[in-house]
Amino acid sequence: MAFIVAIDGPAGSGKGTVANIIGKKLKLLNIDTGAMFRCVALELLRRKININEEEKIKDVLKNIKIELIVDNEENIVKLNGEDVSLDIRKEEVSNFVSPVSKLKIVRNFLLDLQREIANNKDVVMEGRDIGSVVFPNADVKIYLDASPEERAKRRVLQNKEKGIESDYETVLENIKVRDERDATREIAPLKKAEDAIIIDSTYIGIEEVSNKIIDIINNKRGCK
Ligand code: C5P
Repeated sequence: MAFIVAIDGPAGSGKGTVANIIGKKLKLLNIDTGAMFRCVALELLRRKININEEEKIKDVLKNIKIELIVDNEENIVKLNGEDVSLDIRKEEVSNFVSPVSKLKIVRNFLLDLQREIANNKDVVMEGRDIGSVVFPNADVKIYLDASPEERAKRRVLQNKEKGIESDYETVLENIKVRDERDATREIAPLKKAEDAIIIDSTYIGIEEVSNKIIDIINNKRGCK
């Protein structure tokens, strides 16, 4: 039987980095669902389609191809065959992705895709609603949190490493707005699944967080 690890949490909580480390160490397929929402947002931005144009969005979803590929230990996101790994992290996309992810047609489309990609595979999937909606029966559920200030600091650093300049105050403000939108939307809001284990990474490093989660997974696997 496939083994599923769900990691949920707000923007900048370290989910991506942690999922990456765990995926590599435990040989689990790492699925970044935020990247999938970002691809849809980027495609709508490029086509100048706003969130009220449901028919146009349906058409976009009919033809869109989103791929999450691992190449030479690097995670690459492809949108209709094009490498958009950097483009989907731009501030413009970060600001538009939350309103896009509120849309039922987008969520349903990606829910199917997420379940399809994970079908019969051992995976670590990270996002906002993995433990609560996508895989309510996941073997391990983690809710990763950190203070907004710490998360903003990490985002600025991450951006810098990718060559994207960003200003701390703006990133902090955007994180707060996105948290609020993600947590209050009607469908599949950001929330801790009842049986998820909370880990606050404000004062502990990513390595330590990853090791904690690996211990939890190994214990659970030993019981399976
Ligand atoms: O994780 P990341 O910050 O890349 O996610 C981008 C956005 O995608 C989130 O702010 C949220 O609006 C949306 N998202 C979601 N459900 C998920 C993953 C991401 O609504 N499972």
